[in-house]
Amino acid sequence: MGLPVKRHTSSKRKRRRSHLAIQECNLVKCSHCGNQALSHRVCGQCGYYKGIQIIDVFTKLDKKEKKKKEKELAMQGKKVALEEKESAINEKEIEKNTKEISQERKKTNDLLKNKKKS
Ligand SMILES: [Zn+2]
Repeated sequence: MGLPVKRHTSSKRKRRRSHLAIQECNLVKCSHCGNQALSHRVCGQCGYYKGIQIIDVFTKLDKKEKKKKEKELAMQGKKVALEEKESAINEKEIEKNTKEISQERKKTNDLLKNKKKS
Protein backbone atom coordinates (compact mmCIF):
# COMPACT_ATOMS: atom_id res chain seq x y z
CA MET A 1 0.00 0.00 0.00
CA GLY A 2 1.26 3.47 -0.86
CA LEU A 3 2.31 5.68 1.98
CA PRO A 4 2.71 9.48 1.97
CA VAL A 5 6.37 10.46 1.54
CA LYS A 6 6.22 13.51 3.82
CA ARG A 7 3.93 14.79 6.49
CA HIS A 8 1.73 17.71 5.29
CA THR A 9 1.85 20.76 7.54
CA SER A 10 -1.28 22.18 9.11
CA SER A 11 -1.14 25.18 6.74
CA LYS A 12 -0.94 22.86 3.72
CA ARG A 13 -3.98 20.99 5.04
CA LYS A 14 -5.86 24.28 5.60
CA ARG A 15 -5.00 25.50 2.07
CA ARG A 16 -6.35 22.24 0.62
CA ARG A 17 -9.55 22.48 2.66
CA SER A 18 -10.12 26.15 1.76
CA HIS A 19 -11.98 24.95 -1.38
CA LEU A 20 -14.25 22.47 0.39
CA ALA A 21 -16.91 24.95 1.55
CA ILE A 22 -20.45 24.21 0.37
CA GLN A 23 -21.77 26.78 -2.08
CA GLU A 24 -25.23 28.25 -1.80
CA CYS A 25 -27.51 26.91 -4.55
CA ASN A 26 -29.63 29.27 -6.63
CA LEU A 27 -33.28 28.58 -5.78
CA VAL A 28 -36.13 30.07 -7.80
CA LYS A 29 -39.88 29.98 -7.27
CA CYS A 30 -41.60 27.52 -9.64
CA SER A 31 -44.00 29.38 -11.95
CA HIS A 32 -46.50 26.48 -11.89
CA CYS A 33 -46.70 25.40 -8.25
CA GLY A 34 -44.73 28.12 -6.43
CA ASN A 35 -42.38 25.61 -4.83
CA GLN A 36 -38.67 26.36 -4.41
CA ALA A 37 -36.73 24.74 -7.29
CA LEU A 38 -33.27 24.97 -8.85
CA SER A 39 -33.07 27.52 -11.67
CA HIS A 40 -32.99 26.15 -15.25
CA ARG A 41 -34.18 22.74 -13.97
CA VAL A 42 -37.49 20.88 -14.03
CA CYS A 43 -39.46 21.43 -10.81
CA GLY A 44 -39.26 18.26 -8.68
CA GLN A 45 -42.63 18.95 -7.06
CA CYS A 46 -44.87 19.28 -10.14
CA GLY A 47 -42.60 18.26 -13.08
CA TYR A 48 -43.10 21.54 -14.97
CA TYR A 49 -40.47 23.70 -16.67
CA LYS A 50 -41.30 27.04 -18.33
CA GLY A 51 -45.02 26.24 -18.13
CA ILE A 52 -44.72 22.90 -19.95
CA GLN A 53 -45.14 19.52 -18.24
CA ILE A 54 -41.88 17.58 -18.73
CA ILE A 55 -42.28 14.78 -16.14
CA ASP A 56 -45.50 13.09 -15.01
CA VAL A 57 -45.05 13.08 -11.22
CA PHE A 58 -47.93 10.65 -10.59
CA THR A 59 -46.66 7.63 -12.58
CA LYS A 60 -44.63 6.04 -9.78
CA LEU A 61 -47.09 6.72 -6.93
CA ASP A 62 -49.76 4.50 -5.29
CA LYS A 63 -53.43 5.47 -5.23
CA LYS A 64 -53.20 6.97 -1.73
CA GLU A 65 -50.01 8.89 -2.50
CA LYS A 66 -51.55 10.11 -5.77
CA LYS A 67 -54.53 11.60 -3.92
CA LYS A 68 -52.23 13.27 -1.36
CA LYS A 69 -50.01 14.77 -4.08
CA GLU A 70 -53.00 16.00 -6.09
CA LYS A 71 -54.36 17.75 -2.99
CA GLU A 72 -50.98 19.35 -2.27
CA LEU A 73 -50.57 20.58 -5.85
CA ALA A 74 -54.12 21.99 -5.87
CA MET A 75 -53.42 23.91 -2.64
CA GLN A 76 -50.15 25.27 -4.02
CA GLY A 77 -51.88 26.30 -7.27
CA LYS A 78 -54.46 28.24 -5.24
CA LYS A 79 -51.67 29.94 -3.29
CA VAL A 80 -49.88 30.97 -6.50
CA ALA A 81 -53.12 32.31 -8.00
CA LEU A 82 -53.78 34.35 -4.84
CA GLU A 83 -50.27 35.80 -4.86
CA GLU A 84 -50.62 36.75 -8.53
CA LYS A 85 -53.93 38.49 -7.80
CA GLU A 86 -52.38 40.39 -4.88
CA SER A 87 -49.43 41.52 -6.97
CA ALA A 88 -51.78 42.65 -9.76
CA ILE A 89 -53.82 44.67 -7.24
CA ASN A 90 -50.64 46.25 -5.86
CA GLU A 91 -49.50 47.21 -9.39
CA LYS A 92 -52.89 48.85 -10.06
CA GLU A 93 -52.66 50.83 -6.80
CA ILE A 94 -49.15 51.98 -7.68
CA GLU A 95 -50.34 53.13 -11.12
CA LYS A 96 -53.21 55.08 -9.52
CA ASN A 97 -50.89 56.73 -7.01
CA THR A 98 -48.36 57.71 -9.67
CA LYS A 99 -51.13 59.25 -11.80
CA GLU A 100 -52.45 61.25 -8.83
CA ILE A 101 -48.96 62.47 -7.97
CA SER A 102 -48.25 63.57 -11.55
CA GLN A 103 -51.56 65.47 -11.68
CA GLU A 104 -50.76 67.24 -8.41
CA ARG A 105 -47.33 68.17 -9.72
CA LYS A 106 -48.88 69.69 -12.84
CA LYS A 107 -51.29 71.73 -10.73
CA THR A 108 -48.53 73.06 -8.49
CA ASN A 109 -46.36 73.89 -11.51
CA ASP A 110 -49.25 75.80 -13.12
CA LEU A 111 -49.83 77.72 -9.87
CA LEU A 112 -46.14 78.64 -9.65
CA LYS A 113 -46.12 79.86 -13.28
CA ASN A 114 -49.21 82.02 -12.66
CA LYS A 115 -47.57 83.55 -9.56
CA LYS A 116 -44.40 84.38 -11.51
CA LYS A 117 -46.40 86.06 -14.27
CA SER A 118 -48.37 88.20 -11.82
ZN1 LIG B 1 -43.43 23.27 -9.62
